[in-house]
Amino acid sequence: MSPTLLQRLLIPQRRDPAQPAAGLHVFDQANDDAPATRYHLRVDPDGGGLLVVNATACAQLNASGVLIAASLLQGQSDEAVLNSLAQRFDGGAPAQQRQDVAQMRDLLHTLAHPQGRYPVFNLADPGAQPAPLMPPFEATLPLAGIDQLRPLLARLWQAGIVHVTLLPSPTPDPAALVAAVQAATAAGLICGISGRASDLAAGSLLDELVAAGLDHLTLAYASPRAELHDSLYGAGDHALAEALFARTEALALADVAQTPLIAATIDELDATLARLLALKVSNVRFFAIAEREHGGDGAIPAAGMAQMAADVEEAAERAQVLYLWQPPALRQPGLTLTQQVRQGPRCASDVAIRVEPEGAVIPPRGPRRVAGNLLHDDWAAIWQGAAFKAYRSRIERPTRCLTCPGLAICAADCPREPAGWSQD
Ligand code: SF4
Repeated sequence: MSPTLLQRLLIPQRRDPAQPAAGLHVFDQANDDAPATRYHLRVDPDGGGLLVVNATACAQLNASGVLIAASLLQGQSDEAVLNSLAQRFDGGAPAQQRQDVAQMRDLLHTLAHPQGRYPVFNLADPGAQPAPLMPPFEATLPLAGIDQLRPLLARLWQAGIVHVTLLPSPTPDPAALVAAVQAATAAGLICGISGRASDLAAGSLLDELVAAGLDHLTLAYASPRAELHDSLYGAGDHALAEALFARTEALALADVAQTPLIAATIDELDATLARLLALKVSNVRFFAIAEREHGGDGAIPAAGMAQMAADVEEAAERAQVLYLWQPPALRQPGLTLTQQVRQGPRCASDVAIRVEPEGAVIPPRGPRRVAGNLLHDDWAAIWQGAAFKAYRSRIERPTRCLTCPGLAICAADCPREPAGWSQD
């Protein structure tokens, strides 16, 4: 029995026939003239959920949205869906419900044909009201042996974490990387890899990873100038990154650039984004390395973080790239700046978790505080435990003020506040 089937059988049985059971559901829909569309629908215990489409777009749904999406994805007619809604949600206005069903049909179509190719998911648009933080949907996981990874991947599925991004070590064992991607996709998870081109460019490795089911590739890209990029990521890495980006379209592989924000890279951000667009890379993750006071080695001082974020968001909007803020990282005095740039952010985003190969789960921001062990602790206990409560209380509190511009980065935490950076 495949792990996916086993895990599906372990999802609690639904009590309400009209409402999908809590857990992860996968729907594949054939397309006449294109590859099948794959929908991951996560149903949370409160009935709300998350829809991820082809690993490239996602939407957060309320309980009625979950019911409508699940019913439409099962191929039900609008009338059947409306009957289910009437049974499940007493008192709903029929005209509104009909409109909701029509809008969900549009949403499913739109998400299946996104303009971008990667689930870029900042916590909220500027101006949005603070809201309860949704449970994470992505895990950032360093590569380990397959026997160590398999149980972790199964536990991620059981926790409703639909997406895993693997971090290869320098010069990883290609067979181990391929086996990890195979195991993640066999577990039903969306799978990505994030790293340096130098560690992923060997021989036919990329083709093998795609054949194993790799959904997206994130490559470090610091600058259009090879000299600057290579000074951070190693000699020759810039050329390899550009060569890999040039191959992703033919491989139907979603690609993302991860750009470190330090003094040298911020100075030429417009040129970096222009070069990425020329390479047809339109999704960019930004992570800043920040320090409390100006230290002079290139990290961004706290007092400069808001202006830096404004400059970055304006540059991204000018270039019309989709961007994702990753939690800023506090400058680590025990590492050189280059070492810290290569280490990258702790987590992919604020709706991600860090999972270490032995199972330790760490929230995206704050001190490196272990929230529990994914292998031994119930996920609900981890998510409701003290470490994530502290994290949520920071993320959910209002942070915007009238003296700063409305920035997307502020939806998670004030970029000027070191307590809100990851501190490894
Ligand atoms: S969170 Fe508030 S104080 Fe901090 S940068 Fe944003 S708007 Fe300014």
